[in-house]
Amino acid sequence: MTDEALIVLENVNKWFGPLHVLQDVDLSVARGEVVVVIGPSGSGKSTLCRAINRLEPIDSGRIIFDGQALPAEGRELARLRSEVGMVFQSFNLFAHKTILENVMLGPVKVRKEKKAVVQDRAMSLLERVGIANQAEKYPAQLSGGQQQRVAIARALAMQPKALLFDEPTSALDPEMVGEVLEVMTSLAREGMTMVVVTHEMGFARHAADRVVFMADGQLVEQATPDEFFANPRSDRAKDFLSKIL
Ligand code: ADP
Ligand code: MG
Repeated sequence: MTDEALIVLENVNKWFGPLHVLQDVDLSVARGEVVVVIGPSGSGKSTLCRAINRLEPIDSGRIIFDGQALPAEGRELARLRSEVGMVFQSFNLFAHKTILENVMLGPVKVRKEKKAVVQDRAMSLLERVGIANQAEKYPAQLSGGQQQRVAIARALAMQPKALLFDEPTSALDPEMVGEVLEVMTSLAREGMTMVVVTHEMGFARHAADRVVFMADGQLVEQATPDEFFANPRSDRAKDFLSKIL
């Protein structure tokens, strides 16, 4: 654990009733690092993401973000949460608001930033994800891939220090996966700190600094993508890779 770590989980445990869904999880994510989390369904990947920005309370252990232990509640929590953007499988855009309004909402409503400033930033973010010409449309008028790119722009509008992605391409038709991964890859190259849960092994190979393999609530192994894919050490990882590759 270095001074550079932006996200640190120390000995994190969580139960859902009798189910020990996060088991002594230790994970440290450096600034600018891209960590891809893979593993079988039900292994606790979503819970891990949700725990990092306290959408899910933990039962024991510590989560430290940017040097501060995440507080359980209050204004500090809201601030910290706004510094950790989250992109979900379902895009969760507001159906009755335009694309531009969707991207502007957080900074204007939560951060109380000036509309004119936010609008400029929102438009340049929409340009960055290739959707600027759709700014006045409503979510239902866009394809799934476009909506997910808007969701990424919306997360970026809060100027987060890190982004969490929970299977951002799993709900998309196959032909739309590439355009979303492209945006994520360019964010990774620009130095955004990212934790990405995905089944897209191509993305893991090319964009990840580190692959974390999770099974049954445990971080079973961590390695560079080259190491992990060429030489998985645990039987669980070997078994998982044999099924998906
Ligand atoms: P993954 O994202 O790796 O598929 P999850 O973190 O969604 O795994 O879930 C891990 C385990 O916790 C699963 O067995 C799931 O059924 C269970 N689980 C998830 N959320 C809840 C909840 N709110 N209440 C009870 N069990 C849950
Ligand atoms: Mg999940």
